[in-house]
Amino acid sequence: MSKPIVIIGAGLGGLSAAIHLRAKGFKVELYEQNPLPGGRANRISTDGFSFDTGPSLINYPWVFEELFAASGADMHRYLTLKPLDPSVVFFWRDGDRLALSADFQTLAAELERFEDGAHAKLTLFLAETQRRFHYLFRHLVTSNARTILEWIAPAPKGELVRLGLHRSLDRELARYFRSERLRAALGSYAMYLGGSPYELPGTFSILPFGELYYGLWYPEGGIYSLVEAVCRRAEEIGVRIHSNCPVRAIWVDGSCVNGIELADGRVIEASIVISNVDVPTTHELLLGQSYPQRRWRMTPGVITFYWGIRGQSSTMHHHCIFLPDVPRRAYRQLQRQLPDDLPFYLSMPSRSDPSVAPPGSSTAFVLVPVPTLSAAGTAFDWEKAVEQARFEVLRRLEHHGFSITPSDIVVEHVWTPHQWRKHFGLHDGSAFGAVHTLTNIGPLRWHPRDRKYQGLYYVGASTTPGTGLPMVTLSGKMVADMIAANVCG
Ligand SMILES: Cc1cc2nc3c(=O)[nH]c(=O)nc-3n(C[C@H](O)[C@H](O)[C@H](O)COP(=O)(O)OP(=O)(O)OC[C@H]3O[C@@H](n4cnc5c(N)ncnc54)[C@H](O)[C@@H]3O)c2cc1C
Repeated sequence: MSKPIVIIGAGLGGLSAAIHLRAKGFKVELYEQNPLPGGRANRISTDGFSFDTGPSLINYPWVFEELFAASGADMHRYLTLKPLDPSVVFFWRDGDRLALSADFQTLAAELERFEDGAHAKLTLFLAETQRRFHYLFRHLVTSNARTILEWIAPAPKGELVRLGLHRSLDRELARYFRSERLRAALGSYAMYLGGSPYELPGTFSILPFGELYYGLWYPEGGIYSLVEAVCRRAEEIGVRIHSNCPVRAIWVDGSCVNGIELADGRVIEASIVISNVDVPTTHELLLGQSYPQRRWRMTPGVITFYWGIRGQSSTMHHHCIFLPDVPRRAYRQLQRQLPDDLPFYLSMPSRSDPSVAPPGSSTAFVLVPVPTLSAAGTAFDWEKAVEQARFEVLRRLEHHGFSITPSDIVVEHVWTPHQWRKHFGLHDGSAFGAVHTLTNIGPLRWHPRDRKYQGLYYVGASTTPGTGLPMVTLSGKMVADMIAANVCG
């Protein structure tokens, strides 16, 4: 193939596809609209404070090791990953808290405070979910199958039943834990996949499992160090990353792709184009076509606060999740409005890594889930929502004894779903992409190969396997394998 493969967007999915394709011998040109690559995993630097914009938790580190290994490199020569213990601490309003430790005995003792016999239940949960986890990763998560039959064909029937597709995540967790608080904490990851634990399939118990069993990791220097390491490796092997290069259109001729047009008018010919831009945005803005609405139920939006704080807290943890008293009500309200008992996540990376803040100061990242732009409606007052969210978060922190006063916040950036859409082309301001409900996973999710245009592919959170840094990194490998098989096969 003489023409290079063109990738639109330097999110981690686009970068992963670029490395895998280059490692297979293809020429790759990657066009990114922003000054910095990384997509949602970006960086804001102000007055000595350094903020990761989106992802703050890294799990499944082997997925990133495999990305470097595919290009013949050892990730650990590019990046230092540190385990975090405790990984996450959950807080309830009455003062109760749950710290998830990577050490089994410590974790079991912690769970035992919530439920008698939790040690044995945890052992059973980990053993059974581990089996499911390995099975899913080996056969289903990384499958490029186009139909349900093709997807599940390799699965022995017993395994399929054990996947828990037929029950909700909450009901799956209830098979092991009676305590509503344990289930609320372990099920809270559902929000990032666009549902509630009462709606998402039980299969996703692999999320809390992954975190409990394999732990959470932090790259020295912040999450953006991972992006920098990946970009460095990509460029070393010959991927050309063109930053500040917005793409205006994907050119098609009949049923074939034949290139892209940049915003400055240049046309780049290509017979293979991979879009790392959300699929609906690709259709609307780059192909000038409507997309099938029915398929696009999106995960919620987020209001994110980036705070540079004077002083240091010795009691705050790196990852904290503040849960509502009645999770069902909060998940329901989140469909349309700011929940009145606001759940939120706070990360204070300066606790583990002083390099991200000036001496004697701290950084905090607060993520408040909110409805998508269309769900909130045009009358929704986002400025008011920001004020309300800031007030509620500070009040709740004070309630738990972590008092940050507005005057301690010396630097503040705030992004609403409007900014998330503007910066990265996120459809409807949704933070995590299309939902992962039963009707939108595997072959029912948008396929990486376009059905209409030959040579057009997708990579990243909109397509398979789904959202999250490890998943979009796998998506890059999957699309590269598919292209190599089509071109060379
Ligand atoms: C607030 C937040 C917190 C998160 N927390 C975590 C977490 O803790 N752990 C985790 O694993 N995941 C987390 N995620 C999810 C994770 O960030 C995403 O799933 C992942 O980064 C998406 O990567 P992607 O490859 O789909 O591309 P994206 O990151 O969406 O990147 C797409 C790229 O395309 C570019 N682009 C768009 N339009 C054009 C155009 N016309 N021309 C050129 N370029 C264009 C964009 O600028 C962007 O760089 C979080 C996400 C958010 C928003």
